Amino acid sequence: MIYSNKVINLNSGPAALPQEVLQQASEAVLDYNGTGVSILSIPHRGKDFNAILEESKQLVRELCGLNDDYEILWMHGGGRLQFAMIPMNFLGEEQTAGYIDSGNWSADAIRHAEYYGNVQVLSSSKEDNYQHLPVWPHDIPPNLAYLHMTTNNTIYGTQWPEVPAVSMPLVADMSSDIFSRQVDYTNCAMFYAVAQKNIGPAGATLVAMRKDMLRRISRSLPPMLNYAEHVAKKSVLNTPPVFSIYVSLLTLRWIKEKGIDKIEEENKIKAALLYDEIERNPLFSTPVKKEDRSMMNVCFRAVDERTEQLFLDFCEASGIVNIKGHRTVGGFRASLYNAITIEDVKYVVAVMLEFELNKK
Ligand SMILES: *Cc1c(COP(=O)(O)O)cnc(C)c1O
Repeated sequence: MIYSNKVINLNSGPAALPQEVLQQASEAVLDYNGTGVSILSIPHRGKDFNAILEESKQLVRELCGLNDDYEILWMHGGGRLQFAMIPMNFLGEEQTAGYIDSGNWSADAIRHAEYYGNVQVLSSSKEDNYQHLPVWPHDIPPNLAYLHMTTNNTIYGTQWPEVPAVSMPLVADMSSDIFSRQVDYTNCAMFYAVAQKNIGPAGATLVAMRKDMLRRISRSLPPMLNYAEHVAKKSVLNTPPVFSIYVSLLTLRWIKEKGIDKIEEENKIKAALLYDEIERNPLFSTPVKKEDRSMMNVCFRAVDERTEQLFLDFCEASGIVNIKGHRTVGGFRASLYNAITIEDVKYVVAVMLEFELNKK
């Protein structure tokens, strides 16, 4: 049996983080930067945390190619709070927002928006169980308050090839593919990403917003639910998730050092290695349409359902964990976020081959 000296964690989120980041984070838990104080206990309005906030925001700007027209926020509440805050802030009762329904997360964002105004689903692939992307709508009504899309569909393993330019404000949920490839972030009036996929630990959510969006907030909202208040208080409206933001900063430094070009190149290689093996290996198949396949979440199945549990057990015994598909889809899902290396994926492929040979 082949053997890995480390456990390969393919969880969809909270996801694996780079080893260097974990090392630095664990040192900071004991002593932050030689201050003698744990990162878990530094004042959230003090100069150390302020420096962490400023550097992290600057790095996001740099990595996404954003100028000062954009505000960068760290928020609580994960993806779901953004699903609610977007319509709360930007969708008046009489207005209509357009949504592209490309998966479970898009659908959930739609359900949240329906509390606040009119929702027009411009395109959906729900009928085909989201195994491909919906067609991009041709005639988008120009008067929409905003258009919402999910760039990568974490549960179904599909990913939009690009973030398009549209005439109304584009709001993009980039939770599971931010920083994984070059895209034109400036096509978005707002984008957001939960930390726990490609940035850091759960608890923080990254939000980038073009400043003119703040003038569109018409509803009267309590401060915690109002983007303008978060901007005014520079992400410290209340006690922020200090540790999550700090670890996110460590990952942002790691991303910058590596470079998004290099990361994208590796992500393409990783995904190709795994999809090629799924197509070659007679025990596995994927229902996801070829052109729409995600580089980040590779969803596949056992051709014979009875081998599903056997493969999961085989993976576990081989040091590969959390490869089970989402409960609504079944099968397998290998999440190949930035921290997963080409070597890791080669090992997964070797384990799939070994599993095939053992079955003979
Ligand atoms: C994980 C995920 C979310 C949900 O995040 P929570 O923090 O659990 O609410 C939202 N959107 C996408 C695309 C995701 O992958």
